[in-house]
Amino acid sequence: MEKHAAYLLEGVDACKDAIFAAERHIWSHPESGYREWKTHKYMADIFENLGYELTLAGNIPGFYTVLDTGRPGPTVCVFAELDSLINENHPECDPETKAVHSCGHHMQCAGMVGLATTLKRPGALDGMSGKIMLCLVPAEELIEIEYRQKLIEQGTIKYLTGKAEFMSRGYFDDVDIAFLVHAGGDTPLVYLSDGNCGSISKQAVFHGVAGHAAFPENNINALYAATQALSACNALREGFKEDIRWHPIVTEGGSAVNATPDHVVMESMVRGSALQNIIAANSRINRAIAGSAASMGATATISDQIGYTPVDDDLALNQLVCDTYKEIFPDGIAINNHAYLSGSSDLGFLSPMLPVSQISSGGGCSGDLHSSNFKVNDPTFGTVVAAKLEALLLWNLLKDDAQLGKKIRADFKPQYASREEYFQVLDKLNSTKNVVTVQENGDILLSC
Ligand SMILES: [Zn+2]
Ligand SMILES: [Zn+2]
Repeated sequence: MEKHAAYLLEGVDACKDAIFAAERHIWSHPESGYREWKTHKYMADIFENLGYELTLAGNIPGFYTVLDTGRPGPTVCVFAELDSLINENHPECDPETKAVHSCGHHMQCAGMVGLATTLKRPGALDGMSGKIMLCLVPAEELIEIEYRQKLIEQGTIKYLTGKAEFMSRGYFDDVDIAFLVHAGGDTPLVYLSDGNCGSISKQAVFHGVAGHAAFPENNINALYAATQALSACNALREGFKEDIRWHPIVTEGGSAVNATPDHVVMESMVRGSALQNIIAANSRINRAIAGSAASMGATATISDQIGYTPVDDDLALNQLVCDTYKEIFPDGIAINNHAYLSGSSDLGFLSPMLPVSQISSGGGCSGDLHSSNFKVNDPTFGTVVAAKLEALLLWNLLKDDAQLGKKIRADFKPQYASREEYFQVLDKLNSTKNVVTVQENGDILLSC
């Protein structure tokens, strides 16, 4: 191994105590998206003590900092995600908020402590050209949509997830390449795929007519309108393209058992690996919701919001990740699976505009991501190993006059001419409309 590469890896090992302390601290203080103020403060304090100057998002948690090697070259961004999930059945969830890091994002932050410390070692940037952005980003998980819709209405944010929000603010305008290392799994390995699915988030509100449940003749039951919609959407599934998944939950189904529910809220997601298939399935689902509400004499309001766009990993960058992992662990397992994973990541918002890699670093975890049985048995893999991989990826991209970084960027073809043009396309997918209108003559009009 090159001497400087070894120096960077030693840097991560030298601050293991701080890494593990951060892992335990953030695990014990989980916060869901756009609420990560304690995690933000904890990480910002560490960065400031290391001598970093931070650019804060300000009205939401999160920040970034840029290290300049002083030599021209690409800007490479490394992410760490701040947010937890909510799993009320997880034995270690926060007793009040039910938040828990069952996606292991706390380990990304702890790994970032190692990377940030290493990059401040004397001479750490020697031999590299270009800039390094370290970005602590909120709200990767697409949950608590009603809360986030409120933040949108208040003008605090424009997008449901953090990377889309940061990107819309122009924070990544100068970024040439971006990646993140996500933890999970019990087998030590690095895992790459060609991409992840995207999704549209949907909230459907069914409006009925309330009244005493013992005298329901003139009531309109919004819960039954919602269950009709569930049936209709389920019946549509067999006609969906095979990459499409649709999964709903009912978040409000009535409040008192002796009153007919007149306000029922159903949240759902339409996922797929190609944006055009998502859009096609989405419009069928909206038609089914509208028709089902109308069939009960109810009305409905549908709010659609692009949740995630599909991630298209940069294949050359993915290959470099595998090669870099094998450099650190010559006997390690590096899997480059040329498939689309059905999970999603808001890294997808960047992938039409710049080369990205969503890296999974396995080892040390049991149970399933997002589940109440997720457990970190050995944080080494998700933190120390992740930080080493990040440090060496930066080195490999930016060493030798940033030859490899420049090539990966030059070979990449952005899908849109500008950030503005790209976000105009995304914004067209967001809408809120009443999909059932009862006209004066009694005719029912569906608009979906
Ligand atoms: Zn997750
Ligand atoms: Zn995650």
